[in-house]
Amino acid sequence: MGRVIAVANQKGGVAKTTTVASLGAAFVLRGLRVLLVDLDPQSSLTFSLGIDPEVVEYSISDVVRGEVELSRARLRTSEGMDLVPSTIDLLAAEAMLLPAPQREFVVRRGLEDVLSTYDVVLLDCSPSLGLLTLNALAAADEVLVPLQCEMLSHRGVGQLLDTVADVHRLLNPRLRVRGLLPTMYDKRSTHARAVLADVKRRYRVPVLNPIPRSVKFAEAPSVGTSIIATSPSSSGARAYFRIADGLLRAWRFGGRRVAPGRGSR
Ligand code: ADP
Ligand code: MG
Repeated sequence: MGRVIAVANQKGGVAKTTTVASLGAAFVLRGLRVLLVDLDPQSSLTFSLGIDPEVVEYSISDVVRGEVELSRARLRTSEGMDLVPSTIDLLAAEAMLLPAPQREFVVRRGLEDVLSTYDVVLLDCSPSLGLLTLNALAAADEVLVPLQCEMLSHRGVGQLLDTVADVHRLLNPRLRVRGLLPTMYDKRSTHARAVLADVKRRYRVPVLNPIPRSVKFAEAPSVGTSIIATSPSSSGARAYFRIADGLLRAWRFGGRRVAPGRGSR
């Protein structure tokens, strides 16, 4: 059965989408069958993997509206991951979901039929704690939280971890916190090092090895692939390979993840 990982942080620009694309591509090169789901109406993941949301036949919006099976909305990307794309009408689809019964379980139900054909499913969340992010957490085995090592930038992480604890208690007892993933990290910056130390002290969840800041990340989406394809030996690509390999080891041998708890700050 595929392991489902939600990549979430209600703050924008912390590298959620970059993490989903890069980890997904790294897992494919490790021989895994990978599905990515774009849960952001802005469709950054869809765009960055070279797919134009304007021309897709079906998207996650159709799945959320209950009009199409998730399996029919899948596309194959050039790097070998499958993708359920998103389109801007996901906003309207999310709003329509609000009064629906079992509204937190639409993504989980959508995944049920395809889960056995993947090793890993990565869910790219939008920058909000709205209903689609709750759906992602309700469908996930674990949550990975990218964050930037800048002052004030991780202020929402405590609130996110509280939400994860609530989802764990009320909707999804399987959910675990895989960890915080510092991104765009500049190890020469004293400030970034101080923030990283603070993050490690403040939250009682694992902190994974940082992803370095690199201009290579900005270049990759413009050619429709991840950094794993454009610059496979760059420090950024190697950092994502290390995270992917660490996750694989942890899944094989247990590894440290924590049960969500409120007030884990
Ligand atoms: P989110 O999905 O959280 O909004 P994105 O993945 O879209 O964030 O990343 C925001 C911007 O930061 C993008 O332009 C992306 O190319 C860039 N970026 C991501 N990771 C890095 C990194 N390690 N170094 C430099 N730029 C990065
Ligand atoms: Mg994004």
